[in-house]
Amino acid sequence: MKCLVTGAAGFIGSHLAEALLVAGADVVGIDGFLDNYSRQRKLSQVQQLRQDPRFRLVEGRIQEQELEPLLEGVDRVYHLAALPGVRPSWGRAFEHYLDHNVLATQRLLEACLEARVSRFVYASSSSVYGDTDRLPMSETARTRPFSPYGVSKLAAEQMVRLYYRNFGLATVSVRYFTVYGPRQRPDMAIQRFLKAALAGEPVILFGDGEQGRDFTFVADAVSATCRAADMGEPGGVYNVGGGSHVSLNELIAAIQEVSGARLKVRKEAAKPGDVRFTQADGSLARSVLGFVPRTSLEDGLACQWAWLKEADGVDSRG
Ligand code: NAD
Repeated sequence: MKCLVTGAAGFIGSHLAEALLVAGADVVGIDGFLDNYSRQRKLSQVQQLRQDPRFRLVEGRIQEQELEPLLEGVDRVYHLAALPGVRPSWGRAFEHYLDHNVLATQRLLEACLEARVSRFVYASSSSVYGDTDRLPMSETARTRPFSPYGVSKLAAEQMVRLYYRNFGLATVSVRYFTVYGPRQRPDMAIQRFLKAALAGEPVILFGDGEQGRDFTFVADAVSATCRAADMGEPGGVYNVGGGSHVSLNELIAAIQEVSGARLKVRKEAAKPGDVRFTQADGSLARSVLGFVPRTSLEDGLACQWAWLKEADGVDSRG
C-alpha cells in the first residue's frame, strides 16, 4: 500500500503519516510549510518520519507542484493540507483560504482522478455546521458555516463529493471536532492554555467561557481517518468527535488539575466566527466505521502536557 498525505508536516498530518507507516504503508508526504506557524516547529514534526526509509517528504504547495509523479503508484490519498484557523480567515486573508483550501483541493482531485487513485480521504471540519444549538450535530443536519474558514472547508467538501458523484472517485470526508494532543497547533486553545500554565503567564479567553467544544484526541482522530479509508462508503461524510462536551471554563479547570498550576485568565469578547457549541453525533462513524473514541479528556491533556514539558524552553514546540 502506498499513500499520499498532504499537510504531512502539520499537526494531524504528521501523526497520521506515522500511523500509516506503523500499519506497513509506504508514505509520500507533501507540505508547503505555510507560515501559519513556524517552519522550525513543522520540521520537528517530521523529524521522526524522515528517519524511516518508507517515508518521503516533498516540500511544495499542491497548487504549484507537479502532482502526476507524486501520485505514481499511490493507492490512497489523505488530504489534510489546508490553511486552518477561524479567526484569521476574515478580510484580505480569505484569498489565501480560497487558494489553499478550495483551489488546491480541486487541483488535487483532478490529479487523483487522472491517476486512478482508489481512495481519497478529505479532512473536513465541524466548522461546516456553523452556529447552531441543535446538538449533537449529525451529518444530515444543515450546513451553514459561521466563518470564512468554515465556508472554505465546506466548499472543498462539496468539491470532494462532486468528484464522487460525477466521476466515481471513491471519496470520504471526515469532519474533525477540535483535535488536540502532542504537536497541537500553537494558535489552538489547549496549547495556548498549557503553555501559559507552564510559563506562569496570563491567558486570554475569548467569550464568557461557557461555550462548549467536543475535544478529540489526535490518536482517535487518526484512527477514525484510517477507518474511513478502509470502511467509509464512497461519497460518505463522517463526524469524528472525542465524545465529550466541555465548556472552556471546565477545560481550564481540567488544565489546572493536570498542570498543577493556577491559570490567570483574562476574559475578552468573543471573536467573530466563533461558534457557541460543537458536539458530534458519532453514531454514523460508530456504526459504519466501528469508530469509538478511546481517550478521555483528562488522559489526552496529560499526554499533551507531558509532551510540552519535555520541551520546556525549546522553541520548536511553541
Ligand atoms: P496544520 O496547520 O498543523 O497542518 C496543515 C498543514 O498543511 C500545514 O503544515 C501547512 O503547511 C500544509 N498546507 C496548507 N496548505 C497547503 C498547500 N496548499 N499545499 C501544501 N501544503 C499545505 O493544521 P492541522 O490542525 O493539522 O489541520 C489538518 C487538517 O485538519 C486541515 O485540513 C484542517 O482544516 C482540518 N481540521 C483540523 C482541526 C483541528 O482541530 N486541528 C479541526 C477540524 C478540521
